[in-house]
Amino acid sequence: MKKRKLDTLCVHEGQLKDLVHKGSVSPLYMATAYAFDDVEVKRYPRYFNTPNQVGLAKKIAALEGAEQGLIFGSGMAAVSTALLSHLRSGDHVVLQGDLYGGTTNLIVEEFKKFGIAYSFSKGILASDLEAFIKPNTKVIYIETPSNPLMKIVDLEAVASMAKQRGVISMIDNTFASPVNQNPIALGIDLVIHSATKYLGGHSDILAGTVVGSEKQIDVVFQMAKNLGGSLSDYTVWLLERSIKTLSIRVRAQNDNAMALAIFLNKKPSIDSVYYPGLTSHPDHELAKRQMHGFGGMLSFELNTSYDIDVFQKNLNLIRPAMSLAGVESTLTIPSKTSHALLTPEDRVVQGIKDNLIRFSTGIEDLQDLKDDINEALKNSKL
Ligand SMILES: *Cc1c(COP(=O)(O)O)cnc(C)c1O
Repeated sequence: MKKRKLDTLCVHEGQLKDLVHKGSVSPLYMATAYAFDDVEVKRYPRYFNTPNQVGLAKKIAALEGAEQGLIFGSGMAAVSTALLSHLRSGDHVVLQGDLYGGTTNLIVEEFKKFGIAYSFSKGILASDLEAFIKPNTKVIYIETPSNPLMKIVDLEAVASMAKQRGVISMIDNTFASPVNQNPIALGIDLVIHSATKYLGGHSDILAGTVVGSEKQIDVVFQMAKNLGGSLSDYTVWLLERSIKTLSIRVRAQNDNAMALAIFLNKKPSIDSVYYPGLTSHPDHELAKRQMHGFGGMLSFELNTSYDIDVFQKNLNLIRPAMSLAGVESTLTIPSKTSHALLTPEDRVVQGIKDNLIRFSTGIEDLQDLKDDINEALKNSKL
């Protein structure tokens, strides 16, 4: 059979056949007890092996070009289990400096308890990360595009450096989604998603996933079944349904984000726009090379002649929200939300100014989004 393309995989891959009624969607199996005889697999939701879990894992693995996957109860369950399963006391991990806040908290608040040492790299070049590798380094962990400044890490360079040094490479691919970036094809070992974001896409599911080779996923599984972070089959079923529209949603978000980035970039009221699709973005060429689309996330700095709080309040359609990637457009002010706990000096070091706005583009009509922004700008001048 010819290899099927992403749009088809989104709709059909991993779907369970309804042999009894021939319904066109996966039947939902909520059982936590499955009768077995000697030769049968022992199914149990916390073993990640119910029919719905296995079907969905197959779908997401296919989207990322991976051999296997596991579905978790949250993005952080996926991140923590992937990392802890491949690290043990005495090991060391090298991480990109500007990671998702929850991941940074996991490292700095928990890893010492497990005797796992870590280094955060300031730069995002493969050589910046390599500089921190020690004899006991086991894992390199990256995230691209990064939050909130949309920096792009060179996946091929990091993957080949990690292979050369005998280190496992992991990426949080949440911001790109499998539609825009497939790190396994570029040599990365394990790919993690907060499925709460693009995979779910409707701001109503908390879930996570890890995909990779059979061998490396088995290592994750051995710990996952002990930590117990699996996802309820009902939510697994909902997530499968959500992913059927993943490719059309994300492409619409890509298109809206590109158009908004150009629109904002021309405005005197906006100082800078950070979007890898803009030719002015320092990593634009790299993004073009390794991504299939530039994504739905962007950020921009509001000129200081505007009141950022009033601007946010004056928006009607676009709402402030911490989460992202839903079909509805949302924004946050990182200095007041995700990065509020950093000192102002640390924020300056990370390039996060007080007037920075992170924007998650939805699938609304582009003109309605532009009108909402224009209206809010008009009434927020100092
Ligand atoms: C939201 C998010 C996570 C954590 O996912 P949860 O589902 O909230 O646990 C991890 N990484 C990135 C990039 C995220 O945006």
